[in-house]
Amino acid sequence: MIRNGYVYEDWILNKTNGNHNNTKEKLMGQYHLTVNLDKKEFLMPHKLGIGLKLMEQHGIPYGTPDALFMLLACSNGKGSGDFIDNQNKLCGSWAGDRIAVVGDYADKDSLPMMFGADSIYKLCHTYPLDCNSEECTADASSHYLDITDMIIPVMMMNVPGLYINTNEIGWRKREYIPNGNLVGPGWDGDMESDTRQSLDTHLDLPF
Ligand SMILES: [Zn+2]
Repeated sequence: MIRNGYVYEDWILNKTNGNHNNTKEKLMGQYHLTVNLDKKEFLMPHKLGIGLKLMEQHGIPYGTPDALFMLLACSNGKGSGDFIDNQNKLCGSWAGDRIAVVGDYADKDSLPMMFGADSIYKLCHTYPLDCNSEECTADASSHYLDITDMIIPVMMMNVPGLYINTNEIGWRKREYIPNGNLVGPGWDGDMESDTRQSLDTHLDLPF
């Protein structure tokens, strides 16, 4: 388990044979959010139990890539093997929109100028609750809406065993219930905590 920022960056340096000359990137990892530029919505990785860096989100089951996949499934619900959705019809709700993964070091020209890429990351928080702590004075309509807690119940309905407590604040711990068929329609959520395991441990993930 290598999650500490500096140690983790060293791991990246090793993986890329040391060809990494950007001091800022070495000392300060960049955080990234998946954002819907048209709907002004975003996914918060910490709520899914994973880190904010690109390498912490890539290749991790049931993280932002899988949430995005659900949001892009425009013809879901028309055949067997499709996702079970909830009443909000979240699956496919981002299909056809302009979407990007945007970091907090994004420059103005990281996206076409009209998107203001350099200000997107700092507009991704809860308005007005978190504006003070984020030193934000932007108006309500400039903010991006966090829809992570809307897609998590849909993910849990479709992933036997996945459990994320959406009441948990900050970087959540993902859990796996070995008898995963207890999760799904009709699941009452009363599983004893000692029957759960760390999802990352169960899947033998690299982070
Ligand atoms: Zn704000």
